[in-house]
Amino acid sequence: MNSRRDFLQKITASAIALTILPRYSMAMPEQPYDGPVLRVAIMGLGSYGSRVAEAMQSCKKAKLVGVISGTPSKIKDWQSKYSIPEKNCYNYETFDKIKDNPDIDAVYVITPNALHHPHVIRAAQAGKHVICEKPMALNAKEGQEMINACKKANVKLLVGYRMHFEPHTLEIIRMRKAGEFGKILFFQGLCGFKIGDPNQWRLNKQLAGGGSLMDIGIYALNGSRYMIGEDPIWVTAQETKTDHNLFKPGVDETIQFQMGFPGGAVASCLSTYNMNNLDRFFLNGEKGFAELQPSTGYGPIKGRTNKGELNQPIVVHQTLQMEEMSAIILQGKQPVVPVDGEEALKDLKVIDAIYEAVKSGNKITLKLAE
Ligand code: NAD
Repeated sequence: MNSRRDFLQKITASAIALTILPRYSMAMPEQPYDGPVLRVAIMGLGSYGSRVAEAMQSCKKAKLVGVISGTPSKIKDWQSKYSIPEKNCYNYETFDKIKDNPDIDAVYVITPNALHHPHVIRAAQAGKHVICEKPMALNAKEGQEMINACKKANVKLLVGYRMHFEPHTLEIIRMRKAGEFGKILFFQGLCGFKIGDPNQWRLNKQLAGGGSLMDIGIYALNGSRYMIGEDPIWVTAQETKTDHNLFKPGVDETIQFQMGFPGGAVASCLSTYNMNNLDRFFLNGEKGFAELQPSTGYGPIKGRTNKGELNQPIVVHQTLQMEEMSAIILQGKQPVVPVDGEEALKDLKVIDAIYEAVKSGNKITLKLAE
């Protein structure tokens, strides 16, 4: 029988040990590492880029070596904070020259959603592996173009699905695969927060591509797929808008969506920019259930099943993600849940269908494999 220990070993003992928060770290001695290191340049030095950079300080398999930014003062700050040499610093005009830089293996695109498509394609054309933040693109057409560009350039394309490496999440997936919940019948995903500053790009249709669904609802959608372990075959959706000043046309405030899965399970999800304290997954099967709350925030993630509390390590998501992505890119490691462009494209196809369902009121049939 698969024990928790076996499972954790599979997701790389050293990576977990590295990312455990300080209160747990005493028990886990650091493992020496002399394998390949992914040398990463971060594009977009904003709030999430800063979080990833900080987390990468604890990585053994990945190292922050370069930056791409339109703000010279930020480049200077990052150079001194992370010892980044001048030759590895670019702005959006000089960026294509990165192709002549042999000291950078991958570009991590952490810019506003609408810029992922052009930025990923440029990075691929410069011959660099690409890690792109979620949502990979604004729609499935763009996503497919990004996949094609990376294929053509023979570089890997991964998407920042940090929960795909999170131990509580993976333990539930292990239990579901082992049949411990029986036939899966239902998933509920609640994702939301109350958005603040009305001038931010997240409320600008041009840069965000939509509203809460693109930003936070994608966690419930993606979560339904990895928790149930299947891809949905239909979706219905409804939008509610209470504040037409803050949420302009094309920027959704709240969307509820429902999906059907081939094995008979259904999912009910809520995505909103107008409610706090919404970060919860619930999975129900014939023999048992699992719940995570918080389910996708930066942590600590907490969860339980019908068998009791989930007692998994508390990790820094971005450190573990970068350790694992290094192994995927440089060593061909297969993650438990995929994090590649094709995986992200499936989410974009569902997002396209959700917006179509909101507009038309119709139930939309999904064919994610095509
Ligand atoms: P942010 O506004 O804090 O940072 C965006 C950065 O992009 C800024 O440094 C900004 O200067 C730069 N930028 C470059 N060109 C720009 C332009 N034309 N307009 C505006 N900014 C421009 O945003 P963020 O919260 O860091 O989000 C960036 C991306 O990361 C988004 O795609 C978001 O969905 C994603 N994200 C992912 C997670 C996660 O947990 N995986 C969390 C937060 C954000």
